[in-house]
Amino acid sequence: MSIAVLKFGGTSLKDAVAVKSAVNIALRYTGKKIIVLSAAAGVTNDLLKAARLAADGEIEEYNALLNAIKQRHSDICDKMPVTQTAREKVDELCSRLRLYCDGMAMLRECTPRSLDAVAAFGELLTTTIFADYLNSVGQSTELCDARTFMRADGEFTKAKPDLTATEKAVKEHLAVPLESGKIVVTQGFIAANTDGATITLGRGGSDYSAAIIGAAVEAAEIHIWTDVSGVYSADPNRIADAKSLNEITFEEARQLSFYGAKVLHPETILPAIKKNIPVRVLNTFAPDEPGTLIVPTAFTEQPHIRAVTVKNNCFVVSAHSANNGETLAGFHSDFLCKLAAVGMPLLLFSGGESYVFALIEADSFADAESRLTLHLPDAAIEECAVLCACGPGIAAPGAIQADLASEFTGIAINCGAKSVMTATSGLCAYLAVLPRKQGFAALAAVHGSANKK
Ligand code: ASP
Ligand code: MG
Repeated sequence: MSIAVLKFGGTSLKDAVAVKSAVNIALRYTGKKIIVLSAAAGVTNDLLKAARLAADGEIEEYNALLNAIKQRHSDICDKMPVTQTAREKVDELCSRLRLYCDGMAMLRECTPRSLDAVAAFGELLTTTIFADYLNSVGQSTELCDARTFMRADGEFTKAKPDLTATEKAVKEHLAVPLESGKIVVTQGFIAANTDGATITLGRGGSDYSAAIIGAAVEAAEIHIWTDVSGVYSADPNRIADAKSLNEITFEEARQLSFYGAKVLHPETILPAIKKNIPVRVLNTFAPDEPGTLIVPTAFTEQPHIRAVTVKNNCFVVSAHSANNGETLAGFHSDFLCKLAAVGMPLLLFSGGESYVFALIEADSFADAESRLTLHLPDAAIEECAVLCACGPGIAAPGAIQADLASEFTGIAINCGAKSVMTATSGLCAYLAVLPRKQGFAALAAVHGSANKK
């Protein structure tokens, strides 16, 4: 049975107009489908804020926020419109949410467990409205509470899904409605732990939910509907002629995201990629555009640079060997251990016999410096940008693309690169460490050169 999993993000559900566009998109899919929804844009933030205000005893403030959340969803109900039953369900959810917050206000506490219980309401609200509307336009739909099948454990607010248990439960709970021709609507982001408590997969977790569900039912494709037309060759806000890519590999998307591109978090779709299920990113507000297909591995493409990104808030941390007879491995591992103790995100590491450097991410020079003082007091710190260019087959070991690599290196050096790596990163990316003020110029130059042909 071929099943499509469609996931709509918060901006695709932000108001009645958006919800209607999402419904129209869903109706284009003729076969079996599972629809996974986020909360309306901004609602999860508001819910978490309300919970914190409640715990701080800010009675008026949290009530005002809860009123706004309720108003926003009743507006959507009015404009869709939905049935009286759905309206009542929305009111009931809002009352329960208020009870939770009142409880937190009384106890003056807000545990991660309570935060998850409160955060879940965003998805519970959108799915209630969406499922009711589909039914009222004659599409037989079942609203399935994700907590009946999505199993997760570990810490509240960042639970780890139990993929095996979830797969089994997904099959148990979703097969019947799907077989009987019903559309399934369910929540992203939320799950139940072994105690049956509501637990969330972490912020932005709906893509992860969609991938897990898609993998469990061996979906034909997973479609992530968002507010941009897929993954771009560069940030379209920076590069005017950046274009939406037809296709990108999972590993390329991972490199791009790691080095600063605002593509979806690739790790979240790993369950689908592992099962060879293609994931397509599409635009709810331009549904006829093809979007970008994220594929497990590149097909038979000519090696080329497909996309470029730059990350600006980086620092090079470098150190020289103390020449105290230490082995090379000892010198490098000592540096890395100390850096790990500092706890700043590591983006790149390289070094030789007497010199090592690492690229880290930090908010400011002062921040980087103060955090490094304790563990690596002798290290030098310098602000920089890192440029990442990725594409199929460009950095596979033993198959270096001399032309592409030298073109990239040439541009990077022209922009003052301190370091260029064309053979070491993820088999599909070239990296250059640049003076920070040259980051965007290098981005434009590499993008221009890759797209001139
Ligand atoms: N609503 C959740 C959040 O805002 C999950 C998601 O949107 O993916 O983090
Ligand atoms: Mg969201």
